[in-house]
Amino acid sequence: MIRAKISLAAILICLFAGAQQPQAKHDPSFQHIAGELGFLSSDAMHGRGSGTPDELLAATYIASELMQAGIAPAGDNGGYIQDVSGTFPFRTGPKAWHTRNVIGVLRGHDPKLRDEVVLLTAHLDHLGIGKPVNGDEIYNGADDDASGCVAVLQLARTLAAGKPPKRTVVFTFFGSEETGGQGNQYFLEHPPVPLKSIVANLEFEMIGRPDPMVKADELWLTGFERSNLGPELAKHGAKVVADPHPEQHFFQRSDNFALAKQGIVAQTVSSFGLHKDYHQPSDDLAHIDFHHMESAIQSLVGPVQWLANSDFKPEWVAGKKP
Ligand SMILES: [Zn+2]
Repeated sequence: MIRAKISLAAILICLFAGAQQPQAKHDPSFQHIAGELGFLSSDAMHGRGSGTPDELLAATYIASELMQAGIAPAGDNGGYIQDVSGTFPFRTGPKAWHTRNVIGVLRGHDPKLRDEVVLLTAHLDHLGIGKPVNGDEIYNGADDDASGCVAVLQLARTLAAGKPPKRTVVFTFFGSEETGGQGNQYFLEHPPVPLKSIVANLEFEMIGRPDPMVKADELWLTGFERSNLGPELAKHGAKVVADPHPEQHFFQRSDNFALAKQGIVAQTVSSFGLHKDYHQPSDDLAHIDFHHMESAIQSLVGPVQWLANSDFKPEWVAGKKP
């Protein structure tokens, strides 16, 4: 989207446009998804650049939504935000960096299973303001990864509204994924729960459009063949299949990978069909398929509820642990 002069009117127009774009359905969860994605990927958010005040604004919005959903804070000082600062490795070498993660927790109620954690994650940031393409300098990141943030928020709302799960569920929104995963690295060094207690991590990345390489209502799971998590989720109703783009090495390309390297069964749910708007200013609201996104999120509610109430512990397939 083309950068608008920021005034209250512009913000309201962005919100209005975001909420009005999909007109086909009058169902509250559909409108919620569309409105929320419209805000996070609006020009007012300036593309949520890694480590910028815009990324902090996205973090603050998400924290507020978690609070309204009844998810407890698990960030710093009794809040949802985990402040991330220090010197981090970048492609060009070590650099001082400041970003934020957002962390919330829904405590499990089963005396045995509540010490086991299901971790649901997405990333807050995108590329911010950059080189203009066709006069547009805002890299909105509607699919990457506002769609994943909305999915995790919707799962948080659904899980919090129902009977408390047996296991504990932690919801984390990482800052600065696009610059190399600095938020994720800090999270691993300062985890809100012992890393050993995390039985599975599902990262949600780019579910805003269907992938023509799989069936219209299917999602894929990176590293599907590496663990028994995908097949078990599929048995419990998830429409997840193997990643049809193994040559892209997506398993290694998102925040799940750093967790997987710690031994946690950590994989990414996506339906990225290698569209040409990836990492372009045109990854915007106009290119989101809301029907696909709503059914994608909806299809995962049951399987995630099952995982949060099960004693099934996913395991790596022999020789496939990274
Ligand atoms: Zn991403």
